[in-house]
Amino acid sequence: MRRLSVLWEMCLNLSEKKTLVSMMSVINKSVFPQIAFRSEVQEYLHNVYTNKELVSELGKEEAERVFDSLLSCLSHPPSLTCLRASTHTHSLQDIQHRLEQHIAQQQVSDCYSDRVSTPILPHPQLPDVLLLPVRGPRDVSILTAEVIVGAQCGSAVLRGAHVFAPGVLSAPKFMKAGDQVSVFSDVEGRCTRGAKEFQGKKVFLGNGVCVMNRSDIFCPEGPVRGVAVRMVDALYQSPSFDGVLTSEVFLQNLPSVVVGHVLGPRPGERILDMCAAPGGKTTHIAALMANQGVVVALDKIKSKVEKISENARALRLHCIQAHCYNSIQAVSSDPNHTGSTADTPPFPEESFDRILLDAPCSGLGQRPNMAINYSLKEVCSYQPLQRKLFRTAVQLLKKGGVLVYSTCTVTLAENEEQVAWALKTFPSLTLEPQEPHLGSQGMPGSELSCDQRRLLQRFRPELSWRGATDSHASKDLLLKANTDTIGFFIAKFSKR
Ligand code: SAM
Repeated sequence: MRRLSVLWEMCLNLSEKKTLVSMMSVINKSVFPQIAFRSEVQEYLHNVYTNKELVSELGKEEAERVFDSLLSCLSHPPSLTCLRASTHTHSLQDIQHRLEQHIAQQQVSDCYSDRVSTPILPHPQLPDVLLLPVRGPRDVSILTAEVIVGAQCGSAVLRGAHVFAPGVLSAPKFMKAGDQVSVFSDVEGRCTRGAKEFQGKKVFLGNGVCVMNRSDIFCPEGPVRGVAVRMVDALYQSPSFDGVLTSEVFLQNLPSVVVGHVLGPRPGERILDMCAAPGGKTTHIAALMANQGVVVALDKIKSKVEKISENARALRLHCIQAHCYNSIQAVSSDPNHTGSTADTPPFPEESFDRILLDAPCSGLGQRPNMAINYSLKEVCSYQPLQRKLFRTAVQLLKKGGVLVYSTCTVTLAENEEQVAWALKTFPSLTLEPQEPHLGSQGMPGSELSCDQRRLLQRFRPELSWRGATDSHASKDLLLKANTDTIGFFIAKFSKR
């Protein structure tokens, strides 16, 4: 497998491509590369996944196998697309029916796509989730015309998106609308924007039809918006939901939907979402409160705060108040500032019923991701920031209130070790069971006991990863819904 992978990467230049086309069905299925980290980060993660406690539980060989699975699954997209349905305004069945109609229409208008029906499956445990299988890896032959996209755009394409103009790095010299092209991801960030070809390391994502000419994409007036290449034969195929049923559905990873339910907001409560943009979880919380009460959403980046308001408007959630603010400074230092009705930050101590700290993190659990170029220093920089935010959260939480801490990363330092630190630092906090609990328990290797780890929820796609398969039996898919997710961590506390 490793040898084939190297062969594939080496051979992806124009002269050898023709020979490779006949081999593509084998190659597409078996040689999707593992995620690439800098060696220092890979070693750090390897140490996390082969820590003493884990090895004594699993044995060295199994711990190594799990780590290898982690590297493989992180570069592949999850096998289901998760849509959160606006059940505060429509019934789940109604939304399911509208989606089915949309997909059917999309297939009729798309003369290129093969007409395989896409089932829409209600999640068996979450009342506001619809699941759609991602088909792939599929057998797709490489064409001679190549468009290269940035890694972030490439990840979106693997999850069903079309190629948007700002994501395009390289396109053939005379490329025009209507041309058929193969799309590749520049996994190492080496391709220069505006290039006419690229010989560096790239991963094939599928084929599409150009909607724009090359000259429109790289126009001198600056970056253009809109779809540049419409994907018609993607390696991983999933219906595109860009701008579709925007008041009825929200594209969200399954563990993120679980966070809203674990927080358990009730109508009339006062909730704080400390790191809220673009508002995926904020809008879910507001919907679970049936739009009654207040959800204060803070984020320190102004442009991102606008996105929260935009999403709130689209989903018709008017109980959300979004502010641009550094949450570390969200506690008022004015002793006369009391009560719980202040509308703008800073807020008095103990003024929120529930607080979500969906912390800024190293994001290593995100999928698909073929390369992460962070230094070890960057990966380790999040723990102190998360602790500062956590201190504020504890101050702002009412006695008897609930605090949920979450990240989309896989390290112990940002997850279990943070929980161990929090329990030691804040004697008023108690770890609480989570409902629903669809993921695994916390990972061994921190100071937490087995009982404490059992109360945590860690989504660990590496544990059930058996390689990329293209099985679409609904039974298999539903089994995968809770396991083939992004890597994610949730802890729930109450305050005495
Ligand atoms: N909860 C969001 C959602 O579900 O859509 C995702 C949040 S993302 C994991 C973390 C966010 O924290 C980023 O948008 C970042 O701008 C914000 N952030 C980082 N440091 C912050 C701070 N000191 N105060 C407020 N927001 C911060």
